Amino acid sequence: MRSPVSDYLAEVLEGCAGDTSGANADYIPELARADSDRFAVAVATLTGYVHGAGDTDVMFTMQSISKPFVHALALQDRGLPAFLDKIDVEPSGEAFNELSLEEGTTRPRNPMINAGAITTSTLVGEPDSTLAHRWERILGGLSAFAGRELEVDEAVFSSELETAHRNLAIAHMLRGYDTITEDPEAVVANYTRQCSLRVTTRDLALMAATLANGGVQPLTGERVVDPPVVREVLSVMTTCGMYDAAGDWVTRVGIPAKSGVAGGIIGALPGQVGLAVFSPRLDEHGASVRGVRVCERLSQEMGMHLMEAP
Ligand code: GLU
Repeated sequence: MRSPVSDYLAEVLEGCAGDTSGANADYIPELARADSDRFAVAVATLTGYVHGAGDTDVMFTMQSISKPFVHALALQDRGLPAFLDKIDVEPSGEAFNELSLEEGTTRPRNPMINAGAITTSTLVGEPDSTLAHRWERILGGLSAFAGRELEVDEAVFSSELETAHRNLAIAHMLRGYDTITEDPEAVVANYTRQCSLRVTTRDLALMAATLANGGVQPLTGERVVDPPVVREVLSVMTTCGMYDAAGDWVTRVGIPAKSGVAGGIIGALPGQVGLAVFSPRLDEHGASVRGVRVCERLSQEMGMHLMEAP
């Protein structure tokens, strides 16, 4: 539906469309083949109204945008102390797929880099739950955030799993330190499945709005996670969500955010809106080039920077 807001969003897309720099993720063959010209932006209000422009209904995979939501489920299910026992919350300043742990411990540095996210995927559900149960919890939980049943993109899933050498190396390192206690290959399969969930830009805006709304999905009214969980997740998104570009992002955009290598980015402004952008060409940090541009513009023009005095 057209509205003054969607007209404005269309204008922002038009202004950023000319930047065709960057390239699709190429370490996952199926993502390398995606249509690079897709471009969308959506803003969801806390009453569940979605304003959008561009390809807002085109499906793509969540990739690392799944991480803050699985982080939220793990905190909801196990509590903060048990979570921090396994994973720290310090920005790493390293690439997302770095094989590293916090100095002198067996903890990944934060739940947004792959080492932390792979571990986080083992911390949902009951402590004695099986991998199959945990997958059901992840699928059900992320669907609750979206307000509809999500599905796995099987082509991306198998393409990513076949080439998941680095994530397997990370998982074997984690198993070697007993940070995870199960078969590394099965753990990576669950993690890869969560990354391969298909969403639209509209879905992502609503998922972000659920975080902005303190954990209540704006359309269904379901309480998905509790407010202290949301506060923790948004804090970690602020400091670690954009990986080794997090400092730059906070100063320029100032919105808790998470990028994914399929080209999506979400932002959640507490008490205000959820936003999402999609454009597959990535910068050197693995974030959508045009997606970052759109967020910079929205932040500046709509006064969305969190540190901005009202
Ligand atoms: N599934 C991707 C990986 O693990 C996610 C990375 C990202 O989206 O930043 O390599």
